[in-house]
Amino acid sequence: MIKVIIFLALVILSYFRHGVKPSTGPRSQAAETAKSAPPLPPPAPPKPTLEQHFPLRKIDSPYFINDLVYNHDNNFLKHPFYHKFGIDACYVHKDLMPMMIKLEQELYEKNLRAIVFDCFRPQEVQEYMWSFNPNPKFVMDPKIGSMHSRGLAIDIGLADKHGVKIEKATEVDSFTKSASHDYKCKPHEIEKCEARQLLKDIMERSGFRALRHEWWHYELPGRGAGYPTIRVCGHIECEK
Ligand SMILES: [Zn+2]
Repeated sequence: MIKVIIFLALVILSYFRHGVKPSTGPRSQAAETAKSAPPLPPPAPPKPTLEQHFPLRKIDSPYFINDLVYNHDNNFLKHPFYHKFGIDACYVHKDLMPMMIKLEQELYEKNLRAIVFDCFRPQEVQEYMWSFNPNPKFVMDPKIGSMHSRGLAIDIGLADKHGVKIEKATEVDSFTKSASHDYKCKPHEIEKCEARQLLKDIMERSGFRALRHEWWHYELPGRGAGYPTIRVCGHIECEK
């Protein structure tokens, strides 16, 4: 009886002190842990993205398969480095989007997909390319600026609906005569050149301009007049 009275007295006392019923269950243990835990840090600010800082849009569609050549070492620099700039997808200038949407529709109608090899290329990368090979035959002088560094160009090839690359007569970035649209195919290359022509037809119908010496390169007509090149470091955290 005395024990019951003492217990009730403790319950009443605790109620007046804490405003809650005492409990020995898991809830009170959690409350104790929360009391002793250090306060949570303030939420981290969201990481800045290319789309927040620049007029660039990410291409996110099953019709476009990413194979960015500067994100692996199968490129003329033999070095992957786009990830250092936070680039893991194809970004293009927002003014290219109506053409990309038209292109997507063309691919759908032809039961095809596209492989993108390069899209937006930071100006810093263009400068690095120039320092590696300052030859205007192969690399655009960064002082003039590449259409890629304005977000106005894409390097692209066709794939079938399963994503299997449709071969062209040369590899991308093959700076040879056979990379030109004027190249006369040899009999054993006819199929590859037909695929190259199909790509050109689809791209031009979508509003892109072809570049004579690079079958894979397509851009906004007008040579980028009025569009500045885009330097990303400082806005985006770039790895050294
Ligand atoms: Zn290009």
